[in-house]
Order: sequence, then structure tokens, then C-alpha cells
Amino acid sequence: MKIYADNAATTPVLPEILSVMLPCFTENYGNPSSIYSLGMNALRAIEKARSQCAAAIGAKTNEIYFTGCGTEADNWAIKETARRLKREKSKTEIITTNFEHHAVLHCCQALEKDGFTVKYLPVDEYGYITASQVADAITDNTALVTIMYANNEIGTILPIPEIGKICREKGVIFHTDAVQAIGNVPINVVEQNIDMMSVSGHKIHAPKGVGFLYCKNGLKLDRFMHGGAQERGKRAGTENTAGIVALGEAITLATAGIEDRQAKIITMRDKLIKELSKIPASRVNGGVEDGKRLPGNVNMSFIGIEGESLLLNLDLAGISASSGSACTSGSLDPSHVLLALGLPHEIAHGSLRLSINEYNTDEEIDYIIETVPKVCAKIRAMSPLWEDLTHKPEMFERFAPQLSSIN
Ligand SMILES: *Cc1c(COP(=O)(O)O)cnc(C)c1O
Repeated sequence: MKIYADNAATTPVLPEILSVMLPCFTENYGNPSSIYSLGMNALRAIEKARSQCAAAIGAKTNEIYFTGCGTEADNWAIKETARRLKREKSKTEIITTNFEHHAVLHCCQALEKDGFTVKYLPVDEYGYITASQVADAITDNTALVTIMYANNEIGTILPIPEIGKICREKGVIFHTDAVQAIGNVPINVVEQNIDMMSVSGHKIHAPKGVGFLYCKNGLKLDRFMHGGAQERGKRAGTENTAGIVALGEAITLATAGIEDRQAKIITMRDKLIKELSKIPASRVNGGVEDGKRLPGNVNMSFIGIEGESLLLNLDLAGISASSGSACTSGSLDPSHVLLALGLPHEIAHGSLRLSINEYNTDEEIDYIIETVPKVCAKIRAMSPLWEDLTHKPEMFERFAPQLSSIN
């Protein structure tokens, strides 16, 4: 059996999305900036996609700027807004959380080198922050608040409309990375007080290498790429017509009928969580409260197991999953998201993220439920840490508050 359970890392391009892309390569291949009909047709296709993206989030078409990926949208929003406010208003403070995607965290760290102060709000043990934490952190020196809509590793959904309201009241610009939330949470940028928002195509069945930044009209947005006049002069470079057309189609599909699609996914997720929680000395990472966790996200830790070897063994059994985020695999550091929950390294290291969607089946879920405990037992049988934990109760004591029982 081959099971793909890593949809938070990326998703396959759907056949109906591929079919709208293909003509952009071979027939409708004109340069959208050319004035003859072949170019105009490409431009029209891009403008249709722009309307689709705008409609999907309750924005206007001239508030959508296509980018090369979600990461680029984050870089654009954060760096250019911060630099402009420093230049124009001498504001040098940024507020974010300590469990953002690296696309946001590393932008903030880069800005620290340029003289900005960044407040990394701590999430609680379940991976939540509150709007009042944000309210308390804002000062006259705050240039920007950037807080993710939903976390890519542990799936927690943050109170973005409330945070947006606070920022609006205090006159501070608010950006959110909605790459994981789009298609899972109904988003309306007007009703939810969002000034800027990043979206990526490949997490919602469009191809890799396309995304967009929403920027509210009236808010100044500095140019990100210098060159030609594409994207109203703000992001030069010949447009990725096929990718943009795909993104328009993908976001339309992803944001239609969210609730209908979710019932099935939530049932599968909850079954996974319930059954895998029977593994001794395990824990569920992230909150389990209704409506506060992405429907397809399961994140668990099993002490005495290295995430990497868990993944390799699951791969041998035909299951594609992840430990922490795809972006940090290859590094041996435990996930910064799990450390932000206050977990010790020993627990953070042995983590498993399964991210499922409506294309997963009940049979696949049953196979995962059958396979993960076997793989865990096999790895633990070779683990010196597990040997100690099972033979020296005083050693397990230290981890007991955060884990289920070891027997
Ligand atoms: C995947 C992801 C990104 C990066 O998007 P790319 O299009 O891969 O650059 C940013 N933020 C979050 C929360 C993500 O999950």
C-alpha cells in the first residue's frame, strides 16, 4: 500500500487543475505584457485567476499580488512593511509568535540584524496565543504584527479575527501567513480585519512555485522585485501564467464547501488520534478543542524514538509522513514548534505529523493505525533511552506529566 499523509508539506496537482494549466504552456503561451492577441489572452487568464483569488477571500482584484511562492509573500509583506515604517515613521518593533513558519521567523531574525526589535509571543502548551497577549505587546513603536492563521506542524488555528480587530483599533498593520488555513478555515479579509495575507498554491493542489500576497487597498506596499511593470509595478518578472491560472482554480475549489469536506476528514483525524494515543508513553501535540485544530492534522510524540528513523520505517511500510516540518528535515534539531510548547528535547525528537485530506480513505487510516504502533515498538526495542525509561521508573518520572502511561 502507498499512503500519502503529508499534505501539509505539499499536495498533488489535481487533474482538473492540470487541465486548465496545460494550454498555458503550448497554446496560450504569449507574454502577458505583449499587446497582440496571444499576449492579451494570457493576460486575461491571469486577470481571471486574480478575480478568483480575490473572490475566495473577500478581497478586491487590485489587492492581489501574485508571487513565486508563499515564502515570497511572507518576505514581501514583512520586510517591506517593516522597512517602510522605519523609514517613514521611525517604528522599529515587530510582533510575532515563537512558533511561526521559518518563512516568517527568519525574516524577523534578518530584520533584527537591521536594527528592528522583535517580540516573539510565547504560545501556550497547546500552541495557542490570545488576542490580549497581542494587545499587551503593542506599543507606539510597533510597525507590524505578523501571526500565522494556522500552524503547519501542530495544526492549531489562532484567533485571527480578534487579533486583527486589536491591531485595527491600535492602528497597527496586521499580516497573517494563511498558507495552511486557506481551504480549511473560511477566510474573509474584510470581516476578519486582515491587512496583509500570504497564500501558497502547492498546499491546495496547485503546483509548487506560485502564491499571492493580499494587501488591503490604501495600505502602501513597496516594490519587491525591481524590473518590468508586472503586478502593477511591484513585482517584476514575467508572470508564471500556468501557475497563476492553477492557483485561481485551486483556491476556488479549496474554499467552496469547506464544511462538507471537513466532516469526513475530522472523523479520520479523530480516529487516528484516538487509536495512536494507545501507544504507551505518547502524547498528542497541539490542542484538541473543536474548531481550533486543522481538520487534517495529527501530531504526536513517542518518547524513545527518533523522528527520522520513524519516518524511514514508515516509508518502508509505504507511508509518507513527516516529523516536524519538511523544511527542517535534514537538520537534527528538534522542531522549534514543539520546543515552543515547552516539550523537552527527548519528547520533541520523537514526533510524527500526519496530514490527511479528503483523498485519504478509511482503509488507509486503518493501515496507519495498524502500522505505527508496530514500527514504534520495533524502534523502541533498539533504543537505549527506552531501555532506561522502562527499567528505571525515576527516569520516566521526569517526562510523565507530558506523556501517557508507559505500560
Ligand atoms: C508551506 C508553508 C509556507 C511556504 O510556502 P511555499 O510556497 O512553500 O514557499 C509558509 N508558511 C506556512 C505556514 C507553510 O505551511
